[in-house]
Amino acid sequence: MVLTGASDGKDITTAINAGVYVLVLEFRDPVRVRVGALGFLHFEAGSYLYVGSARRNLRQRVARHLAVAKRVRWHIDYLTTHPGVRVVGAVMVQNMSLTECNLAKKIGLDLDGTVPVPAVGMSDCRNRCPAHLWWRRRPTTLDEVVAVLPGLLVVVVNETVPRTAPAIVF
Ligand SMILES: [Zn+2]
Repeated sequence: MVLTGASDGKDITTAINAGVYVLVLEFRDPVRVRVGALGFLHFEAGSYLYVGSARRNLRQRVARHLAVAKRVRWHIDYLTTHPGVRVVGAVMVQNMSLTECNLAKKIGLDLDGTVPVPAVGMSDCRNRCPAHLWWRRRPTTLDEVVAVLPGLLVVVVNETVPRTAPAIVF
């Protein structure tokens, strides 16, 4: 089930405030990005799918990923604040049995992802996953992400880019 914008989006989004999510980014050109202590890393042009989780305040977490102005704190923040990035949006999943690591594996497999830069976004991983950040050369739509996800979903389209599907924007 995918929730799309209704007259009262607040009620709908309240349904999801804990769980896992997939954040979709794009770099039109290859970039070198300094990712904290990992130093300068090379990122190919293409899509990046980042899998994260929040035990609470999931909506605020996703909104923070979409915000341009923020204090850089996590690895992914170095990408989402890069001038060459386009933050496409995110898909939130309300499914407490789906862990961040399981979702990361599923995204990599189902969307045929490649590991772009090992260790980026892996600080919290205890399961030796191949990646929580996946790369695909071609642009990835939020619809493609929705198509491989189970359960109750909320799609968040970054309002600074053209909307490709009805969605809740906040
Ligand atoms: Zn993991």
